[in-house]
Amino acid sequence: MTPGPMVLDVRAVTKVYGQGDTAVHALRGVSLQVERGDYVAIMGASGSGKSTLMNILGCLDVPSGGRYLLDGTDVGALDERRLSILRNRKIGFIFQSFNLIPRMSALANVELPLAYGGVKAPERRRRAQAALSQVGLGDRMDHEPNELSGGQQQRVAVARALVTAPALLLADEPTGNLDTRSTADVLGILDQLSLSGRTIVLITHEDEVAARAKRVIRLVDGGIIEDRRLRRAGQTGVAGPPPVAVPLAEGAR
Ligand code: ADP
Ligand code: MG
Repeated sequence: MTPGPMVLDVRAVTKVYGQGDTAVHALRGVSLQVERGDYVAIMGASGSGKSTLMNILGCLDVPSGGRYLLDGTDVGALDERRLSILRNRKIGFIFQSFNLIPRMSALANVELPLAYGGVKAPERRRRAQAALSQVGLGDRMDHEPNELSGGQQQRVAVARALVTAPALLLADEPTGNLDTRSTADVLGILDQLSLSGRTIVLITHEDEVAARAKRVIRLVDGGIIEDRRLRRAGQTGVAGPPPVAVPLAEGAR
């Protein structure tokens, strides 16, 4: 199959945990297409199915029903080994808790997905250095996670997510553990990545974070109840309006 313009093509996906009387219908037929260059925020109350959807989009779990195509590949047809290869090649993950490896330099952390992907050492180093420079940490590459602030650690995690040039950046509450200043830094980097044409899907509770995206999707009880476009999708943000300045939360210094 030739990959279409859609990075994500989710068709009537369901997810059921458990069986019989105790079955939980976490997703009840979600359909969602995301084109290259879009920046999508997924919102919803606790228990609405955000993490379930995120796990399926990230190929960490498989749907109970429906189909999911990632960059043209039907994920349902893949075994565990092929799924992990697809994950490594196509997706960059950014987590709320950073998930960096302790006692490893920022550079080594960012090189890791390239090492798994079989990229040779000199090329690995070069690309990891470029990714760290892109997030403004060119002067912190030898620092270990415990020598970095939370905001800096999350910027390392962003560098690690983008170093493989993935089709999709998938972020789960990426600013959930950050103070106002670091939140602004990380959101600024995501804006830049979006402007440069990266495709981003992020889960957030915060309206201020969602307001930076180009499109906001709301989940209630495992279904999409709202899909609202704020800015034009597409390869670059140049044709659309620039990201709006979002007032910072109260308590900002
Ligand atoms: P959210 O991330 O929006 O809080 P989740 O996707 O984690 O929502 O959960 C959606 C529903 O599925 C909830 O009712 C939750 O209790 C249930 N659920 C999530 N994971 C599991 C699991 N592994 N086993 C059983 N039920 C689950
Ligand atoms: Mg969750």
